[in-house]
Amino acid sequence: MKLPAEFEKRMQEMLGAEYDVFRAVYEAPHKRGIRLNTLKCTAETLAGTLAFPLENSPFSPLSYYAPVDLKMSALPLYHAGAFYSQEPSASSAVTLLDPQPGDKILDLCAAPGGKSTQIAALTGDTGLLWSNEVVRSRASILASNLERMGVRNAVVSSVYPDQLAEKLTGYFDKILVDAPCSGEGMFRRDEIAVTEWSPEHVETCAVRQLAILDSAAHCLREDGILVYSTCTFSMEENEGVVLKFLEAHPEFVLEKPHTTFGRPAYGVDAVRIFPMDGGEGHFAARFRRIGVNSCTAETYFHKPDKQTDASAQALYKELFTDKPGRFVRIKDRILMLPEEMPEISGLGVVRAGVEFGEVKKNRIEPAHGIFMAAKSETCRSVMELTHDDPRVHAFLRGEEIEAEDCKGYTAVSVEGVITGFGKASGGVLKNKYPKGLRIHI
Ligand code: SAM
Repeated sequence: MKLPAEFEKRMQEMLGAEYDVFRAVYEAPHKRGIRLNTLKCTAETLAGTLAFPLENSPFSPLSYYAPVDLKMSALPLYHAGAFYSQEPSASSAVTLLDPQPGDKILDLCAAPGGKSTQIAALTGDTGLLWSNEVVRSRASILASNLERMGVRNAVVSSVYPDQLAEKLTGYFDKILVDAPCSGEGMFRRDEIAVTEWSPEHVETCAVRQLAILDSAAHCLREDGILVYSTCTFSMEENEGVVLKFLEAHPEFVLEKPHTTFGRPAYGVDAVRIFPMDGGEGHFAARFRRIGVNSCTAETYFHKPDKQTDASAQALYKELFTDKPGRFVRIKDRILMLPEEMPEISGLGVVRAGVEFGEVKKNRIEPAHGIFMAAKSETCRSVMELTHDDPRVHAFLRGEEIEAEDCKGYTAVSVEGVITGFGKASGGVLKNKYPKGLRIHI
């Protein structure tokens, strides 16, 4: 594989005697991985449907290696949100962040959502996950991935980080900045990253990374954790950014990463992963905010609309056995909001919580999102299918399928993992799988 000469020179200087091993890796296939979504599935269930053994990667207990030629989209459990396609070393940053149940977490550069969905799994979808992506079209993909993975307690926004910093000062317990970078760790699987690489691009990225970290610093509460990560190897974008950030922010200290993967970074307490370390390449540093930061965020004011609330509660009870959250109507859409959330106005919010339904002719038609976030055992009517049942692919293609013994709105479950719903009547399930998600195999 051809690499930019200047990049090769820099890597030679960085790696010394190990450079030949590094260079040889570029002649071998790249590493692929899948990350288990524990909100919807167990490792045993997933393993039972795969044609290859699940081998853990060292970067997260939820990360596994996958064959390089695996066609994820052919697997029903992929569409059901049982797992996410994630390069193994990309799961390392969230391991450093260490999300815990109840945490309020900001993922500042979040699309397409690999790390956001990993965070949601680790908090058990409790607390609040705020996922921001500045590019609007990418924010829609992020929202769609969070929906597929069954996440309820998330807000998706699309603004520049400084806009969040202004209104959400001191709000978050933990923040992830998985920064846009020169992508040197992507070279084996993305030729565009190779052609776009230049020393100037590396420099531009480093400047932007520092600006994003400045905004993140504002949003973090005292004693909160900030993780900075990239998928590149350059010193400027990694150790260089860490040192400049610490210089500009004496209210932060670097914490030694107590990880068992990768290797120590150069001259700072952070972790580096090279392709020789079992993944494509990542850098991650963990900071703690030791300086005071008063929270200025206002709490979201929810003015209940009694009629919407009563109809949504009644429909929820008809569909599920667990307790609903609070509902809000925005035009004809009804959302079920996160357990807690700050005021969202003026923050480019694309989605808050999960889609519950749409008002049509004074009735609420349930939405795909609320079923994706449901557990099979809490659905009042559910069709339980095995992954190799031909009805699963037919359902994902948008076809009507046979549905004996079911009546009304019915969840479709694959190996116990909900992948959508339909409306059953007369032994047939009318398909409600969204048109944009339907598969063509
Ligand atoms: N964390 C994501 C994941 O795991 O799926 C990957 C994030 S990617 C490395 C970096 C993201 O930062 C991109 O989606 C990019 O659009 C976004 N970005 C670009 N410029 C930005 C800026 N100035 N501020 C914040 N984010 C930006």
